Amino acid sequence: MKLILMGPPGAGKGTQGEILEKKLGVSTISTGLMLRTAIKEQTEVGKLAEQYINDGKLVPDDVMVEIVKQRLAQPDCANGFILDGFPRTTAQAKALDDAGVEIDKVLLLEVEDEKIVERLSSRRECSKCGAPYNIVSKRPAVEGICDSCGGELIQRKDDVPETIQNRLNVYHEQTEPIKSYYAEKGILAVAKGEEELKDTTANVAAALGLGE
Ligand code: AMP
Repeated sequence: MKLILMGPPGAGKGTQGEILEKKLGVSTISTGLMLRTAIKEQTEVGKLAEQYINDGKLVPDDVMVEIVKQRLAQPDCANGFILDGFPRTTAQAKALDDAGVEIDKVLLLEVEDEKIVERLSSRRECSKCGAPYNIVSKRPAVEGICDSCGGELIQRKDDVPETIQNRLNVYHEQTEPIKSYYAEKGILAVAKGEEELKDTTANVAAALGLGE
């Protein structure tokens, strides 16, 4: 299965990616996580991306397309993958097509803007492995500690109110148009993001025609 997860920031793409990765037995590729790792390691890409991310803006298409192409060429992607956070512009979607990458499904997770601000301010991320948490809806077993790797949970720098609004605007202006691009290809599936994780997971399974 070659799957794209799309939706506004905080819709639950990371969490659903984690669940689907286990169900489908393929790797999840999160471009946001790749960029945050690159920033931590202060690589060339990291240095270039840092200001864009902190301002809630998109990193330029050519940089992102190159990163994703290289990642998709890795052996673990040969039989399928889940893309979380890419494509985010129509140019990125077209670049995937031009590279001959055939996507099976695009899952759109829908959550209203009003709920996003609330969700993002209670979101946390493992500083070591990047696993997603939420202090309201997806708490770790031990407060502040990642269930999977024991890393410290932190709040992302771009999950602050000033940046959240920018990210939402960017989503509506630049990413949402991809919806019709994939709808026209007949591969768009839509699932509603709910308050309860189990309800969202059920919606996703139904939209993709998977068992729970
Ligand atoms: P995310 O973790 O998916 O919310 O991504 C965090 C930030 O990384 C975004 O707000 C962008 O600044 C940047 N980013 C991630 N993926 C992309 C992409 N496909 N195109 C451009 N910028 C991206």
